Amino acid sequence: MALEHKKAADFSEWYLELVQSSQLMDYTPVQGCMVIRERGYAIWEKIQSFLNARMRKDGVRNAYFPMFIPESLLKQEAEHFAGFVPEVAWVTHGGDEALGERLALRPTSETIMYTMFAKWISSHRDLPLKVNQWCNIIRWDTKALKPFLRTREFLWQEGHTAHASKEEAEAEVRRALDWYADLCEQLLCVPVIKGKKSDAEKFPGADMTTTIEAIMPDGKALQCGTSHLLGQNFAKIFGIRFKTADGKEDLAWQTSWGVSTRLIGALAMVHGDDRGLVLPPLVAPLQVVIVPIFKTEEDKKMALRSAEKLIAALDAKGITTHFDERDERSPGWKFNEWEMKGVPIRVEIGLKDLAKQGMTIVRRDKGEKEFLDDAKAADYIATQLDAMQKDLLLRARAEAQSRMFEAKDYAEFKQLVEKGFVKAGWCGDARCEEAIKEETGATLRAIPFDEKPKGNCVFCGKPAKETAYFARSY
Ligand SMILES: [Zn+2]
Repeated sequence: MALEHKKAADFSEWYLELVQSSQLMDYTPVQGCMVIRERGYAIWEKIQSFLNARMRKDGVRNAYFPMFIPESLLKQEAEHFAGFVPEVAWVTHGGDEALGERLALRPTSETIMYTMFAKWISSHRDLPLKVNQWCNIIRWDTKALKPFLRTREFLWQEGHTAHASKEEAEAEVRRALDWYADLCEQLLCVPVIKGKKSDAEKFPGADMTTTIEAIMPDGKALQCGTSHLLGQNFAKIFGIRFKTADGKEDLAWQTSWGVSTRLIGALAMVHGDDRGLVLPPLVAPLQVVIVPIFKTEEDKKMALRSAEKLIAALDAKGITTHFDERDERSPGWKFNEWEMKGVPIRVEIGLKDLAKQGMTIVRRDKGEKEFLDDAKAADYIATQLDAMQKDLLLRARAEAQSRMFEAKDYAEFKQLVEKGFVKAGWCGDARCEEAIKEETGATLRAIPFDEKPKGNCVFCGKPAKETAYFARSY
């Protein structure tokens, strides 16, 4: 049952085997498109709940817009259009009838949404307007496809806001980025770096893009979420104007931000091991599995009676459980299966445990067996779920830290970038950024918000204007 490929030896193959064997996803006859299976989708629903709660508090409301975007709309913002057109899938026919105008399957929804914003916003009283949609996105990627990380159709949320001032919009950009960082760290136990993108890496049509980036175990960066300050660029083109309090007319300031199902891939990569998935308790669809060890029907009934009390006690604490009473599988087989699926805690109830009025508990991340009295089990399990959530983040932080480096010069940079993130000075010139990318395959991932530039540009040696993180990426 264990994975054929080992995480340390063959990371890429290990990941592919992991996400399929743990039943997070499966391949389909549609090239580049996968199924997110029930267990994977349940994780997505946890992500949705986490973000919906944050957004609701901030006054963001969910809505749904069409997935078809007329070409003329998409073309209106030139930079935006140029940025997306290589990956757009087009609808050209309805039945046998050629359409008068091609329809893009949304690669992102700024243009369709802002056409509507222009209709809905006329006064400062209509602002801020904060709308989010959970939807699918189509990007006809031709690069190597990878489950969750790069597929032609994926799921995401896109938040879009319009404000009366630049300051308000900037605050919204940072607020959304903070939700994303909290989501990654508190829910998924995936530590991230926050910062802004260079002009070369920013969202097409935005004034500024902010990002959270995580380091995967192979040293590659994974962009986990972005939040954009769109300025008044789209407002100008789509005519999102409003009357100010003193009767003047102004253009709205806008933001957009999103995270996608690639977060599920990050989660699997960071925590998984050679036995399968390891899920942080807060995001695990099933938190505790109870496996009875029995030879006769009578033993099984006794184990079930003991489990029923535990299930009721855990239920009262809001902890999800499953009693695995299948006869056709051995306990060992079941242990392996639930380990593959990443269930945080396994409870074993056998005759020896019953004789001592207790049970055996195994945490997925530690793998050690502990015996517990019946009376103490529920409280102890609850404590261990909390502890595991914290431990996974701490362990992931330590691992990420071990893949973060600082380079004094370009020779050192080239060596270190093989292993992870490299922090280095940058003069701000896009030509240095481009040269680094061409020669090392590393892109500028993020310019941290609160770091003062020091030293020189790692490429050209001129005084640094920024301190930046570089890495190869997914
Ligand atoms: Zn330079």
